[in-house]
Amino acid sequence: MNKVIVEAKNFSYRYNQTPRRALKNLDFQVEEGSFFCIIGANGSGKSTLCNALVGLIPHYFVGKKAGEIIIDGLKTETSTIAELSTRIGLVFQNPFNQLSYTAATVAEELAYGLGNRGISREEMHQKVDYVAKLMRIDQLLFKNPLELSGGQVQRVAFGSTFILEPKILVLDECTTQLDPLGGDELFSIVKKLNQNGVTVIMVDHDMERVAQNADKIMVLSEGEIVAIDTPQKIFEDPFITTYGIDVPDYVKLSKALAEKNYTHHAIEITEEPTIALVKEALK
Ligand code: ADP
Ligand code: MG
Repeated sequence: MNKVIVEAKNFSYRYNQTPRRALKNLDFQVEEGSFFCIIGANGSGKSTLCNALVGLIPHYFVGKKAGEIIIDGLKTETSTIAELSTRIGLVFQNPFNQLSYTAATVAEELAYGLGNRGISREEMHQKVDYVAKLMRIDQLLFKNPLELSGGQVQRVAFGSTFILEPKILVLDECTTQLDPLGGDELFSIVKKLNQNGVTVIMVDHDMERVAQNADKIMVLSEGEIVAIDTPQKIFEDPFITTYGIDVPDYVKLSKALAEKNYTHHAIEITEEPTIALVKEALK
């Protein structure tokens, strides 16, 4: 087993003025360099957990917490958000919440988090140019962030997190404002970062993407962990749909095949040829 880089120990959280806990007794570990996905119905606590991982809970949101979260050796409770941000970065579900609302241009917005890191102006310019090209927002650098489309803001939000080079990247449904092509493009950047050693924690509704890329999937339901396992184990469990979760096409297809009394082999989900075969068989 690789080094554990993120750990939750019996972590619970209740927002003020709400009767129920949004997160209940969470215990889990994420290995360094892994691709860890979090899935669950709306309101199951995914975004709350993302906020807790980067320290916005307990430092920014008002509520009651119990237990602890440890990020690369730092307890979130006793570390500042700034300290944590050198290790872990979050791309918010709503990219408009990520904007500083003080930067006059996209370039300033991208450089915003670099401000207090003691790097030279020249290095800052280089980083901004690099990230802008990568995110394909280099044509927008001198625009006002408040005049951008949702998809453009999402790219800027991603860029402003990515530019800080966190070793753990938390993505909370971060392609919702993009068209499918833009979403795939952003996701391929995430994949590359992961291949280069960045630990990725991703909340995503796209079950094909989750099934094909996750090393581990954690399923949340009403603030509780109901399963943590490999994609294969998670999606072969017939109870999974009772938690308000869709399943990837290959699972639907293999079930349909079984119902038609096709001989049922254990299907390797990462094997594209097998998926193609199943699709062919169902035509
Ligand atoms: P998900 O991201 O899985 O849709 P959330 O983490 O956003 O779930 O929400 C989990 C629960 O916490 C929901 O019941 C939601 O209404 C509640 N909640 C989320 N944000 C807040 C907040 N800022 N104040 C009070 N309750 C909140
Ligand atoms: Mg959410």
